[in-house]
Amino acid sequence: MRSPLSTLELVRPRSLEHALEALHASLAAERLTPLAGGTDVYVYLNAGQLPARRYLDLTPLAELRGILAKRDGVTIGALSTFREIGRHAVVRRRFPSLVAAAAEVGAWQIQARATIGGNIANASPAGDSLPVLLAHDAAVHVRSARGAREVAFDRLFRGYRDLALEPDELITAIALPFPPPRSIPFFRKVGTRRAQSISKVVFCGLLVRGANGAIQAARLAFGSVAPVPVRARHAERTLIGGKPGLGAAARARAALARDIAPIDDIRSDRDYRMAVAGNLVEQFLRVAAAEKDGRH
Ligand SMILES: Cc1cc2nc3c(=O)[nH]c(=O)nc-3n(C[C@H](O)[C@H](O)[C@H](O)COP(=O)(O)OP(=O)(O)OC[C@H]3O[C@@H](n4cnc5c(N)ncnc54)[C@H](O)[C@@H]3O)c2cc1C
Repeated sequence: MRSPLSTLELVRPRSLEHALEALHASLAAERLTPLAGGTDVYVYLNAGQLPARRYLDLTPLAELRGILAKRDGVTIGALSTFREIGRHAVVRRRFPSLVAAAAEVGAWQIQARATIGGNIANASPAGDSLPVLLAHDAAVHVRSARGAREVAFDRLFRGYRDLALEPDELITAIALPFPPPRSIPFFRKVGTRRAQSISKVVFCGLLVRGANGAIQAARLAFGSVAPVPVRARHAERTLIGGKPGLGAAARARAALARDIAPIDDIRSDRDYRMAVAGNLVEQFLRVAAAEKDGRH
């Protein structure tokens, strides 16, 4: 049932410390639900699917804002919107797949509000940024009143919509190391229509080629094909040492069935998703074959 707005409480913290203390203290009664851009929270509220009555407004927290470029990578504040991410010069140059994913999140209005921290914490296996973070070995910075820690992105999802976060922890930032030299990135989301749809399959690939052109490292990360975003590690292994191209794509496609387990749901069925996943890997390997030395 939908809660009347007048019954909801919004806590506006003065600082990150204050927010963390309030979140921790709330566990004794009703946990405060963090509120960032609100683009998921408001939908659940409107649909009557969110029983929570107490919210913690993260938007005043300057500590969660900003994108910092360092020597070896970037640190993206959890409150960074997809619009901010898509416009950042270093992110544009070094993480084109993240920029491509940012441009696919809803329409401009959503991109201007939706945050990367919210995309992660919402924990949908269809979140567009998630395969990109997985393929790029992201680390998620979290904090609570008890201290700070870092969670490797590939250890974050414990199960469907279940993250390895404690109820009193907030995501503060996401760290992305720069891809190695001679790496080739790729991102594509397949939905019901060209724009503004939830993904049927979302894919991010990253290949690293050696000086002789052979594949040294391969990361194939998918969303919407399993209860959590997944790396296709069997398919990745078939690529190591070979050259990108159709032969490599056929080997990877055959291995994919061991990596992903799409379901039938209202958006698509299993067979279609399997076929699309294989096609995306093939498209990536065609693009990679056409690139001489990688981009970086
Ligand atoms: C019309 C529409 C279209 C959309 N299209 C897409 C799409 O194409 N692709 C896509 O991936 N998503 C899409 N979404 C979903 C949504 O926009 C994204 O998931 C967005 O990134 C959520 O971020 P937010 O800041 O709005 O999160 P909120 O709604 O504020 O929060 C989402 C969840 O994360 C928690 N949370 C937020 N920030 C933190 C934090 N720092 N630490 C801990 N917990 C936190 C909240 O408690 C809540 O549970 C769409 C939504 C709408 C309404």
